[in-house]
Amino acid sequence: MGYNVAIDGPAGAGKSTIARLVAKEKGYIYVDTGAMYRALAVHFLKKGVAPEDTDAVSGACADADVSIRYEDGVQQVFLNGENVTGMLRTEEVGNMASMTSAVPAVREKLLELQRTLARENDVIMDGRDIGTNILPDADVKIYLTASAETRAKRRYDELTEKGMECDLDQIERDIRERDERDMTREIAPLKKAQDAILVDSSHMTIPEVIAEICSHCR
Ligand code: C5P
Repeated sequence: MGYNVAIDGPAGAGKSTIARLVAKEKGYIYVDTGAMYRALAVHFLKKGVAPEDTDAVSGACADADVSIRYEDGVQQVFLNGENVTGMLRTEEVGNMASMTSAVPAVREKLLELQRTLARENDVIMDGRDIGTNILPDADVKIYLTASAETRAKRRYDELTEKGMECDLDQIERDIRERDERDMTREIAPLKKAQDAILVDSSHMTIPEVIAEICSHCR
């Protein structure tokens, strides 16, 4: 059994940035589960599946194979053998992932992959249901959040830095909508595990958040 740190929270809370840096400091593998949902979203977009059509989404899972490899410690996500890592971080893919992640067949598809990675490695795994559902016995559970305004601004900065055109108000609306969907879905909704440590990063710097989380980890 690996040493497992679970880090959950809403969109744009900084989970991936923080988890990546904690992984480096502590020598864990960083597992980005959102990227797995996004890879499946790419599959649905490629196939022209409507996210509201849950039967079609479930059916389309049958010919999707998601796998993970690490190159120089960086997670690479493969969809049916193709490295789709560079295609995952758009709003279109994020919204598709958020809508389709409520479908049980989608979650089932990724559950074993996530648990196997945690069993075989020391990991910090980020997502929405890691502490509550995927790794209920994780050694450390963190619930990382920040205000919706802060999170929207961070996502906006991330996208504009990459040269993508975007609109701050639209991003905030998307984020609120996505949170609402993630928190109210029937299966594995986003919520703080009872034994998770709450970290609100709205007024914290990245080094402060990392220090706080590392202080709880082996
Ligand atoms: O974290 P990220 O924005 O990459 O996740 C994309 C979407 O995938 C989320 O909005 C959420 O609906 C879904 N997701 C999930 N469970 C996880 C990770 C992501 O439902 N463990």
